[in-house]
Amino acid sequence: NSQLSELDPEVAAKIDDELTRQRDGLEMIASENHTAAAVMQAQGSVLTNKYAEGYPGRRYYGGCEHVDVIEQLAIDRVKDLFGAAYANVQPHSGAQANASVMHALIKPGDTIMGLNLAHGGHLTHGMRINFSGKLYNVVPYQVREEDHRIDMVEVERLAHEHKPQLIVAGWSAYARQLDFAEFRRIADAVGAYLMVDMAHFAGLVAAGLHPSPVPHAHVVTSTTHKTLAGPRGGIILTNDADVAKKINSAVFPGQQGGPLEHVIAGKAVAFKIAASPEFKERQERVLAGASILAERLMQPDVAAKGISVVSGGTDVHLVLVDLRNCELNGQEAEDRLAAIDITVNRNAVPFDPRPPMVTSGLRIGTPALATRGFGEAAFTEVADIIAEALIADDEASLADLRHRVEALAAAHPLYPNVAPLATA
Ligand code: PLP
Repeated sequence: NSQLSELDPEVAAKIDDELTRQRDGLEMIASENHTAAAVMQAQGSVLTNKYAEGYPGRRYYGGCEHVDVIEQLAIDRVKDLFGAAYANVQPHSGAQANASVMHALIKPGDTIMGLNLAHGGHLTHGMRINFSGKLYNVVPYQVREEDHRIDMVEVERLAHEHKPQLIVAGWSAYARQLDFAEFRRIADAVGAYLMVDMAHFAGLVAAGLHPSPVPHAHVVTSTTHKTLAGPRGGIILTNDADVAKKINSAVFPGQQGGPLEHVIAGKAVAFKIAASPEFKERQERVLAGASILAERLMQPDVAAKGISVVSGGTDVHLVLVDLRNCELNGQEAEDRLAAIDITVNRNAVPFDPRPPMVTSGLRIGTPALATRGFGEAAFTEVADIIAEALIADDEASLADLRHRVEALAAAHPLYPNVAPLATA
């Protein structure tokens, strides 16, 4: 019955350090969030002990009466949240959700189309050494050079030329909305399934602030830990009974063994939160913050340094900063923001001349700060801090910016009721 701090002080101390890091700095990695303490409570529960292969009411193990109720709650809540007829809440991650859909609907050797990784797509949309690139014949599409928007004329042309069995629409680094109806029209014209991976923007969809792919796609996948703000994991939604059946058997036993019922409990809690008016108000601040940041990074003082914003703005929760004409590369810009306790990630921009480990871009997101309570005034201040850090050329101004970050973090306390472990 030892406490973690007694049994394993090394791990306990590092968990405490991570809590301090998250509290004292500003988290602006676009794919991250601060999940609710209630979600972490559900995840850190005895549910972690339970095997429950199968689905609610049809398990291969005894003792599933309580996890059945929890998993069914998660299924019903996520169906309501997104207006989908069928849901699978078992994928351990977004990557596994995507693998399960491909496993369910197409065969190795079939052709898939997805957004090029270098233009904002995800690894599972056909990257060469990912399972998706190894098992399937990949035809990537990309964004137009002039405006950095997905070129739907090119998508249509490629679809007719290559006759894919599956078209993937979705992204990890793209600041604009997709035309789901147009993707479906193209998929139908060539007899392909349309899978929309809404991992990044699911929270915006849940709040009704972004068009929903659910009425258009044959199948929608998502992670639950990005804008949706739940535990790390995946989900699959569909309105098609036949697709739903194939997907359930592709997840289990096709891809996974026992579902993570502790994580599924966390998902259920997160879906409840995501249906609340407070969640919608939070997502409004996510969008407002990203617009404020994009506007600030397009001001003349920043532009004078050769810095611009990919696609000239944002419709979502992230801003892609284009450093192709700037002396700073993506690595240096990421390090500079890290030095003032703002965490972002460097990211390739379309047509990036620098190598992938260096890049000419930054991906900056607002979901975690909105969760911390940031509103327009705080986002205006953080946008200014980022702009000044990117154009600064002396240590003194960075020290001053770091103090401004400290003040913002202190004014927006994170997890006030979560106690450090080492003293617990
Ligand atoms: N799909 C998209 C669009 C993503 O951006 C990501 C993660 O970044 C994933 C899937 C994979 O999610 P996970 O990291 O949970 O496997």
